[in-house]
Amino acid sequence: MTKLPDFAFDNSYHRELSGAYAQWQGDKVPAPQMLKLNVALAEELGLDADALAGEAGALVFTGMRAPTGAAPLAMAYAGHQFGGFSPQLGDGRALLLGELIDRFGRRRDLHLKGSGRTPFSRGGDGKAALGPVLREYLIGEAMHALGIPTTRALAAVTTGEKIHRETGAKDGAVLARIASSHLRVGSFQFFAARGDTEMLQKLADYAIARHDPDLVGREGRYLSFLKRVAERQASLVAQWVNIGFVHGVMNTDNMTISGETIDYGPCAFLDSYSPKASFSSIDQQGRYAYGNQPNMAAWNLARLAECLLGLINADDEKAIAEATAVINNFPTLYQAAWLTGVRQKLGLLQDKEGDLALANGFLMTMQGQNVDYTQAFRALAEAVLGNTSPLRALYDDPSKELDGWLAAYFARIGEEAQTPQDRAAEMNATNPLYIPRNHKVEEALQAAEAGDMAPFEALLKVLQTPFTEQPNAESYSLAAPDSFGPYKTFC
Ligand code: AMP
Ligand code: MG
Ligand code: MG
Repeated sequence: MTKLPDFAFDNSYHRELSGAYAQWQGDKVPAPQMLKLNVALAEELGLDADALAGEAGALVFTGMRAPTGAAPLAMAYAGHQFGGFSPQLGDGRALLLGELIDRFGRRRDLHLKGSGRTPFSRGGDGKAALGPVLREYLIGEAMHALGIPTTRALAAVTTGEKIHRETGAKDGAVLARIASSHLRVGSFQFFAARGDTEMLQKLADYAIARHDPDLVGREGRYLSFLKRVAERQASLVAQWVNIGFVHGVMNTDNMTISGETIDYGPCAFLDSYSPKASFSSIDQQGRYAYGNQPNMAAWNLARLAECLLGLINADDEKAIAEATAVINNFPTLYQAAWLTGVRQKLGLLQDKEGDLALANGFLMTMQGQNVDYTQAFRALAEAVLGNTSPLRALYDDPSKELDGWLAAYFARIGEEAQTPQDRAAEMNATNPLYIPRNHKVEEALQAAEAGDMAPFEALLKVLQTPFTEQPNAESYSLAAPDSFGPYKTFC
């Protein structure tokens, strides 16, 4: 038998939260094979990357063989999906293999997605297809390089199985991913829906110990915890919006307590700026459209607040009022986070009164003009350097509106003493040149499905340094050709 390398697991969820999971194992699969190992992340986790690069890694990350110290389990959770509540979802095709303490002392979950049916599978096959596994790998790593909190891809392995999807027979794969935890809003809903206050409290105290240790044992900690989650989500969603990311399925089971982006399914990046942009084939109403994400985050947090109120004396009107205030205050929190980000995008150093209107004004000039959102901010840095042509060229009709806005913008930056060179350099360090453009992602996945990983590797490499111009990489910075058509994803 292939010898497996050591993993220094320390499985707190398994130890402390029995009742919140089912112990389980991955399926045996016909031909486990390592497809892609994230060597740098493996090393960060203190793992032996060389040992994992071959058969041992394939056996571990398909879930076929549990290394010593692993306690594989399927986590229980509930969730509102597109507004409708399911009291029991849970890991229907995933396993938490265990927790590792990384080189920086951080506790991190090692989790497999696509490892077979579990007690939570309902009608599903428990499997994942290669395309979506590689999409999550690519976009998660891109988000990380963009500086946005996210789960990370540790490995993609193929199983040698054919699995069946609406779009036909697909190659099976498993994604090994790393998260600061897999606790979700839906984890709390699972126990709240059952009226199991004891488990709800255990879970809340566990989450606090893990993510907000300074609150451990404090009076009023559940409210403080709610506030922290709201702050993390306000910051996260503001970063999504500023980078032009559309998550696509912000169900409560896909919203973390940690503030990391999780579950890259039908997600996409904006091409043309539009608040209504929605790319998911399953989101026909646009519930999770680009511009609606802050509203949906607030909605999800209200569901978390309802759960946590179960831990607060029902007669405690002050606590109820405070929880309500946290939710009502979310738009303010969000706007502050967004404004901080957009100031950087615009190259503004100081906070000034009219900045919100100025930032919104720039977006308004883009509406209905087919302006590539990502290119617009890079082109604005060019404008700062004295050349407005690249920016104007992005507009169908570089109208008076843009000229008027540019005049206001130049007046505003003129109030700050900074050289155009320094300002443009700072803007280019926050506005990416390269994002995972939808057509490039599709191209890479299609090639991978046909057995050619070269486009995936090339795209991944470019996305690892998204702010810096790279040789022979121009095509990665360009908008999709018209022939690509309107983008819909079916993940
Ligand atoms: P997701 O949309 O991936 O966030 O998943 C929502 C729920 O459906 C979770 O409980 C998943 O575990 C479950 N699920 C998704 N795909 C499958 C599948 N192929 N087999 C079993 N369960 C699945
Ligand atoms: Mg969408
Ligand atoms: Mg999910």
